[in-house]
Amino acid sequence: LADKLSAAFKRLKSKGKLSEPDIKEAMREIRLALLEADVNYKVAKEFTAKVSERAVGQDVMESLTPAQMVVKIVNEELTALMGSDAARLATASTPPTVIMLCGLQGAGKTTHGGKLALMLKKQGHRPLLVAADIYRPAAIKQLQVVGEKAGVPVFEQGTEKPVKICRAAVKHAKDYGNDIVLIDTAGRLQIDEVLMDELKEIKAAVQPQEILLVVDAMTGQEAVNVSKTFDDLLEITGVILTKLDGDTRGGAALSVRSVTGKPIKFVGVGEKQEDLEVFHPDRMASRILGMGDVLTLIEEAQSKIDQKEAEKLSKKMLENKLDFNDLLAQFQQVKKMGPLKNVLSKFPGMDKQLKDVDIDDRIMDRTAAIILSMTKEEREKPALINPSRKRRIAAGSGMKVEDVNRLLKQLDQMQKMMKQMGGKSMKRRMRMPF
Ligand code: GDP
Ligand code: MG
Repeated sequence: LADKLSAAFKRLKSKGKLSEPDIKEAMREIRLALLEADVNYKVAKEFTAKVSERAVGQDVMESLTPAQMVVKIVNEELTALMGSDAARLATASTPPTVIMLCGLQGAGKTTHGGKLALMLKKQGHRPLLVAADIYRPAAIKQLQVVGEKAGVPVFEQGTEKPVKICRAAVKHAKDYGNDIVLIDTAGRLQIDEVLMDELKEIKAAVQPQEILLVVDAMTGQEAVNVSKTFDDLLEITGVILTKLDGDTRGGAALSVRSVTGKPIKFVGVGEKQEDLEVFHPDRMASRILGMGDVLTLIEEAQSKIDQKEAEKLSKKMLENKLDFNDLLAQFQQVKKMGPLKNVLSKFPGMDKQLKDVDIDDRIMDRTAAIILSMTKEEREKPALINPSRKRRIAAGSGMKVEDVNRLLKQLDQMQKMMKQMGGKSMKRRMRMPF
């Protein structure tokens, strides 16, 4: 994004004076750059309309060139788009302050519960983490590990009803002098009514000062859609945008605020517990404008990325270097095409064979959940996954160690198969989606 924007500005730089067509052309380029960065269409359109309105109407300041003037306006509007000032956490007038973390599975709720707990503890608070994800038995354990690492106590009551756990946790916090209660709620792979009802019930019971939605920046536009839906149903107070370290396009950061009206309060920038930052719209705007470190933000159109991914994958398969990152990328591409059965039925001859077969799409989700619980390194080098890592991965994904073993074996078999197939015919076979 930064590259595209600076290219748009560069063209303006050669001009002594800004004409309306110049601005129009620059705005067109900026709009394209935003769209390619996966910024919501409406947001991109409104943004450029605003900028050009200001640019056309305004006298160029004496100290600036016309191009600098436009950059300045774009910078200001980008900052405004993301919410101007860094948002602070609301606090309760009588402690404890209750913060609910919600979001889809794998977004980073549990991880960010730990990160926030550590940050707040360093600021002199006495946070309490609450295990309200009771559906995956291992979720409690995962939070306990996270809590231990942060040196913050974890409140749990096993598989008691989440709303009861949360009530009891607030009481516990009062009794033991914890001034902040951080609730780690359950997630789902998709938004569903049962979960929403549960979250609403918790909200009504503990009246949180903050309902922070945890969203994965790497999901781009989808992160924005998820934020909108959660906000409509639950009225969130802010967003934690996670995995910004892996988000190459920055689209989610730009659209979340203007689509939901709710500020991004924190960003997750890595897997370690220290990797949490307060979100500063002005700094993010400067970053996007390419002041240094993010000039490498990928600005390629989505189609090109998919194309490249596919090429990378087939090359890797040929070289027998297939890893879990590839598998996950494949799942995500396949998922875009719709239910597995429909996808398969598009292959010649498959239609009839599939007629009475029931394909469970959840298998793919479950497998994806296991892979999502692996670290980047583990995905690249499955050989690293020793028994203790297997237990951690199983815990994180709510699956059993046997499931992790099975998946590892499957990858191994796939690699062996690739080796055997090898040779020339591979390229033709690679047209298969997976
Ligand atoms: P939950 O299901 O929402 O509770 O998600 P988790 O907290 O279990 O996180 C899922 C995966 O995402 C884990 O492997 C985390 O290490 C990883 N993760 C979470 N936040 C970040 C982040 O900011 N950056 C990176 N790179 N990985 C993250
Ligand atoms: Mg969790």
